[in-house]
Formats: sequence, structure tokens, C-alpha cells
Amino acid sequence: MQELENFKFSNKFAGLPEDFFHRQNWTPFVNPKLIHFNKELGEQLGLPKDLNPQDLVPYINGNKTFKNSDPLSMTYAGHQFGSWVPQLGDGRGILLGQLQTKDGLMDLHIKGAGKTPYSRFGDGRAVLRSTIREYLCGEAMHHLGIPSSRSLIMIGSDEPVFRETTEFGAMMVRVAKTHIRFGHFEYLKHNQKTEFIPILLKHVIDSYFPELPESIDGYTDLFEIIINSTARLIAKWQAFGFAHGVMNTDNMSILGETFDFGPFGFLDDYDPGFICNHSDHGGRYAFNNQPSIGLWNCHALAAALKDHIDIERAKEIINDYQKNFYDELSTIFRKKLGLTTHESDDLSLAEELLSWMQKKKIDYTFAFRNLSKDPSFLYTDQAGKIWYEKYQKRLNKETTSPIERKRIMESTNPKFILRNYLAHEAIKDAEKSNFHKLNNLLEVLKNPFQENSKLEELAKPPPEWGKKLEISCSS
Ligand code: AMP
Ligand code: MG
Repeated sequence: MQELENFKFSNKFAGLPEDFFHRQNWTPFVNPKLIHFNKELGEQLGLPKDLNPQDLVPYINGNKTFKNSDPLSMTYAGHQFGSWVPQLGDGRGILLGQLQTKDGLMDLHIKGAGKTPYSRFGDGRAVLRSTIREYLCGEAMHHLGIPSSRSLIMIGSDEPVFRETTEFGAMMVRVAKTHIRFGHFEYLKHNQKTEFIPILLKHVIDSYFPELPESIDGYTDLFEIIINSTARLIAKWQAFGFAHGVMNTDNMSILGETFDFGPFGFLDDYDPGFICNHSDHGGRYAFNNQPSIGLWNCHALAAALKDHIDIERAKEIINDYQKNFYDELSTIFRKKLGLTTHESDDLSLAEELLSWMQKKKIDYTFAFRNLSKDPSFLYTDQAGKIWYEKYQKRLNKETTSPIERKRIMESTNPKFILRNYLAHEAIKDAEKSNFHKLNNLLEVLKNPFQENSKLEELAKPPPEWGKKLEISCSS
């Protein structure tokens, strides 16, 4: 297809000095097969409306080339579980380039692309299981209104990939505003390449914030944007019950998008100490640690940039992290409770409900969705009743009609969420080439706030076995 071959990549990142990447092609599968194509995202990226996704497969697999792409693997480093790792990089990813879209530049990146100079001991591949999880999560996040990378297309193969068991290899095209991570700057700082830091800062400004000056002031403004968007992103995670799982600095996008999902999980029963990553023995990335880990990561970025930004302002920016986080969190929780006016103890009211839910092991998504529909779950004990009465008193201070309140609440409290057990069931079937459950799950995740009587089953809290699934780091 001529249009695909001539796809207009801008290759801005590939225009940087070679210290930032390794130029290379990737390793095709022998028998690639289409698993899923994201039509809506394809149209947003300017792919032909009548595109047959089968035509895209040879380009993604690497049998045919996009004439205008300058593929490369990126160099970066990062703090993993708090420890400094001086050399990371795309060990299984290839950046195809940037596309100019109506929403700004978008990176296209192949994940699971085979070995690169950064593969270390890895095989360069990704398994179908983790690829489907990332595909599902990108859609779930996006449609909940949480900034996130997404996936354009997923292809599978018969190629065995060895993890805890033998699985199948897959590739996907990840679409994100950028693949520049906190770890890109840390790499330059801690590997005696500091002269490249202003080059990367200029690249980011030029690509995403052209209104900012290329000076210490502009770099500090950029730092402020990064820190604020990180604080607000993590507030959204907390409000929707999302645990990322591997908040290493190399998994933090500088544009505040959810990125590089590992063994992520959405809360089922409300448990603030929830650890979604089975390999995270110390609970560093437990659900309730995410806000402070986000701040820790911002400090790591500040340390990398310290000679290029205004330090006094940077301290204030870091100090404002907490305020930005709570502003965003309060805004969402007010909506979750249907509040349009501000009372100083609104967040405490939400926190009281949460601690009750924790004690009673109540499903997080179910509880908030039912607050405006059928709050009878609160009447199972005295403390629940007392909270509900307090909540009613608070609602008496509101001027919105009950109908309007219900509308606000139902557009903030999703009916459907990407439950671990649902992903697990969809994956088990997809591994046997049955995509029915995957398609149904995608349907509800694309409309998480809408009732869907046909797929009502998918809104149910998990059965007991579904709460106990262990997600390891392997992917
Ligand atoms: P992640 O935990 O997925 O963020 O990966 C951390 C680092 O390990 C990154 O540099 C990845 O590119 C690399 N990596 C992860 N899995 C593999 C693999 N199977 N082969 C090569 N590199 C990998
Ligand atoms: Mg990563």
C-alpha cells in the first residue's frame, strides 16, 4: 500500500547526536499474525480510513519498510527500585519516528522488536500475555481520561519465548507523545555527558513547548511542567485505583503520560497497601506509595538537571508537587462524591469512606459507582450508615439537582474497569486464538462510564480466585 510506505515520519529524535541512540532495524517473526488493530487510534494518526490492518502487518513485523522512517533504539539509564543503573536503553524496542498529528507529535515505537545493544541478558522479545495487558491498559487509561501511551496494533507469532513457562512472542506499536524518560537525563548526567543535557532540553522545548525560551528560564519552566504533570498524573492513578507496579525513573515519561506498564493492577477490594507486582517484595511500589515515589523520581530528575535550571525555583517547584497532587485528587474526589461546591473537609469525607471500605473489604469501583445508584452496601453496618448520613448532610449544602449530581458521578465513577481477572481470562483465550473475550473487554473499556446490559457480567467484582492472581515482573 503506497500510503503506508510513504508514511510521513518527522524523525526529530533521530536528528540528535548519535550519543542518544543506536540506529538499527529490528528482527521480524517468521510467521506474524494480526492480533488486534486499534482503528480509532489509526484514524487519529492519519492512517487511511479504509485500511486493511493485514496490510500493516509486514511493516510492523519489519518485512517491509516505511520509506521515511529512521529506526533506532534509544539510550537511557535510571533508578530501578531505588538503585542506580547506569546503562539501560531500549532492550527490546525500536523508535520508528514521530508523526505530526492534530494532537501534536506522536512517537511510534515497536515493542518486542528483538535484540539491540541494550538488551543485556534479555532476548529482546515481549510475550503475547504482557503485550495484550499493555494494549488493554492503554485503552482503559485513555478512556478513563488518564494520560497514557496506547497501542496501535498488536501482532503475534509462533516463536517460543522463555519466561517462567514457554510463551509466544508478540510485538506491538506503542503510541506515546514521547519516549523520552526521566532516565534519559539521568543517563547524560551520570555518564559524563552533561554537555548533551541542553541539547535534549532544547529538543523537548522545540518539539513540545515551542513557546518556551531556550534558556535557563525556559528549562526551568519545562521542569515545572514535568513535575506538575507528574503530580497530577499520579493523583489520577490514585483516584481511579491504578497501581503502576514499576515506577522506576526509566519508566517515567517526561510528558506526564502513564508509560511502560509492567505488572500493573487496578484495585479490586479497596486496599491501600496493594502491591500489584509479585516481585516487589518490599512494597516500594505499593498503591499508597505511588505519590511519594513520584516525588522521589522528581528529585532524581532535579538532580540530573541541577546545573541547567534555576535551583531556587526548582526547590519551589518540587515543594508544589504535593499541592498539585492534592488539588487534582480533591477535584476528582469531589466529582466522585457528586460535590460541586467546596468545603474544606471534603477530602476527609472521602477518606472516611475509604477507611470504612478498607475495613469491610469493599470493591473500589463497585462502591463508587453505586453511591449514586444503590448505596445499600453502606447499610451493612453502623459505621457505614453513619458515614452515609454525614454524606447526606454534606449533599444538603449543594445546589445541583439530584439528576445532575448523578450525571456527574456516573461520568467520574466508571462502571467498568480493567480487572486483573478479566485480563487474565481474555489472555488465556487469546493464546488459543479465541479473541471473543478480548474484544468484549475492549468494548467496555472504551466506554467505561456507560451502562452496557449485554456485557453487564464484566462489571462484576472478581470471584475469590480472581483476587489472588499473582502478576510477576516477567514480560
Ligand atoms: P522494563 O522493566 O520493561 O521497564 O525494562 C527495563 C529494561 O530492561 C529496559 O531497558 C528494557 O528494554 C529491558 N528489557 C526488558 N525486557 C527485556 C527483554 N526481554 N529483552 C531485552 N531487554 C529487555
Ligand atoms: Mg521500562
